[in-house]
Amino acid sequence: MSDSLPTTHDWPTLEKGWVWLCGAGPGDPGLLTLHALNALRQADVVIYDALVQEQILDWAPQAEHIYAGKRGGKPSAKQRDISLRLVDLAREGKKVLRLKGGDPFVFGRGGEEAQTLVQHGIPIRIIPGISAGIGGLAYAGIPVTHRDVNQSVTFVTGHDQSGNATSSLDWNAIAKGSQVIVIYMGMKHIAQITSSLIYAGRDPHEPVAIVTTATTEHQRVLETTLSTATADIEEAGLEPPAIICVGRSVLMRQTLDWQAMAKGHAPRDLDPLGRGRPAESA
Ligand code: SAH
Repeated sequence: MSDSLPTTHDWPTLEKGWVWLCGAGPGDPGLLTLHALNALRQADVVIYDALVQEQILDWAPQAEHIYAGKRGGKPSAKQRDISLRLVDLAREGKKVLRLKGGDPFVFGRGGEEAQTLVQHGIPIRIIPGISAGIGGLAYAGIPVTHRDVNQSVTFVTGHDQSGNATSSLDWNAIAKGSQVIVIYMGMKHIAQITSSLIYAGRDPHEPVAIVTTATTEHQRVLETTLSTATADIEEAGLEPPAIICVGRSVLMRQTLDWQAMAKGHAPRDLDPLGRGRPAESA
């Protein structure tokens, strides 16, 4: 298929009339999977989202590139149009690559698109990607789980289909049951979300990290707390897309901010949880 893909593996062929629904990762093109690269090399047409870095499309110079950007909160009719466009392209006999930011099945409406395709008899393949809520935090030096911090993590979306704050979520239950909460699309309703968590009993001083345009050269990370997040975001002028992480795993960044270390900065604290022992013991 391509000299840059290992030859020890049989790479699948993107056949005419098929749609491959593929995650592009959070931004850094290096976080694409090899299956994604294989797909880019073969596609006749790539339909991509707003969060897909344009650079990634350079790996599909032979393909037609169609922008299908959607902004959160817009009416869902457009989603239907995108899904049907995929059906039409497949029926025209195209090799279709549907490229979505992060992982297509994580808050990305990939499930809906796949469902429409199957309902129309279009054969599909799903290629997972690195989701921003995991990979984006890793680029900020925040491990989404750490044995000393959390045995569970909850991924939530900050707004529902209508663009409102997610009213169907039981913030009380999340506050009580989730040691670490990773919020997608949470910027618009940050004040409401943080208040709900504090009201439900979370410590107002609990650490929070906001990571915007994670894994790209424009990545910014703000460390704040539940009670100060809204004002600090405003003051810093942070804009979406952002991943918001609530919980003590944010403290690990003091040891694990590997991007700062790569620039020569020393870790701020080797034992930010105050455990007083090397992490690998016990
Ligand atoms: N399927 C995607 C999520 C799509 S929803 C995934 O798995 O990552 C869109 C939301 O994802 C954004 O509003 C933001 O909360 C988050 N997101 C996606 N890419 C991001 C990035 N590079 N940096 C920060 N947040 C990102």
